[in-house]
Amino acid sequence: MSKTGELIKKYDFTFRKKFGQNFLTDPSIVEKIVDSSGAGPGDTVLEIGPGAGAMTVELAARAGKVVAVEIDSSLEPILRETLSEFDNVTTVFTDVMKLSDEDLLKLTGEGAIVVANLPYYITTPIIMRLLEGELKLKSITVMVQKEVADRMEAGAGTKECGALSLAVQYRAKPVRVMTVGPECFIPRPNVDSSVIRLDLYDRPDIKVKDEKLMFALIRAAFNQRRKTLPNAISGSSELGFTREQVADALKEMGLDERIRGEVLDIGQFARLSDLLTAK
Ligand code: SAM
Repeated sequence: MSKTGELIKKYDFTFRKKFGQNFLTDPSIVEKIVDSSGAGPGDTVLEIGPGAGAMTVELAARAGKVVAVEIDSSLEPILRETLSEFDNVTTVFTDVMKLSDEDLLKLTGEGAIVVANLPYYITTPIIMRLLEGELKLKSITVMVQKEVADRMEAGAGTKECGALSLAVQYRAKPVRVMTVGPECFIPRPNVDSSVIRLDLYDRPDIKVKDEKLMFALIRAAFNQRRKTLPNAISGSSELGFTREQVADALKEMGLDERIRGEVLDIGQFARLSDLLTAK
């Protein structure tokens, strides 16, 4: 039986589906993920969802400091046992989505790396939050559903392309590490998983005056991806633009006002954002 399996049994732990709990049981996969993250003595690692601590132990052995944020406080006794040899791990029991950038910066400082086997029910919101925030991360190495990794690498105009793809293209260079089958987890998920590392740019190649506005435009465009861009953006309660303002900006860009957001690349979203900032 794997070490994780033994701990689950010893503490009579009940997996909670609602928290996306699929724990890694294969030590060689854990090692490969941590290897690919490049975590070393100079790094602070933010681990989201340590579970029973299979990856936390490996990270703690290599990195200067590990901050592990776990929503399920019933894992506390297990993590206490797993991590008993290490004094460089801080465990915080809360929903990572409830922590502000300020909270996270207090815990990790700037330049941290993220390493996680992410809960699948909330993968995209977590990655979007890390990419849109002001955390100045160095890299993000995550295990996600294979389809989500495909979406992260998808180019503009393809059917997989969405807000996540554009946020990744703006902020980072994605590097696919490996694909992992369901047999490496307990309980087994129904899908294949992929490990992907995002190496974050110090400064994005694409320049934009108001990043927050650009991300809000991208969200509006993909929330209503069947609508034309002027309709999707003017229909968003988060943004205060009229249909005409969006249509005029598109005209200035030499684009037809009937296009949908899904055909724009990140450079065009940046330009649209700058034109709308001026209006
Ligand atoms: N890292 C462990 C491993 O690889 O074996 C567990 C990975 S499991 C896929 C995801 C973990 O994230 C679970 O421990 C789950 O309880 C935790 N989790 C789920 N939602 C969370 C949230 N919103 N904030 C923090 N942790 C969360």
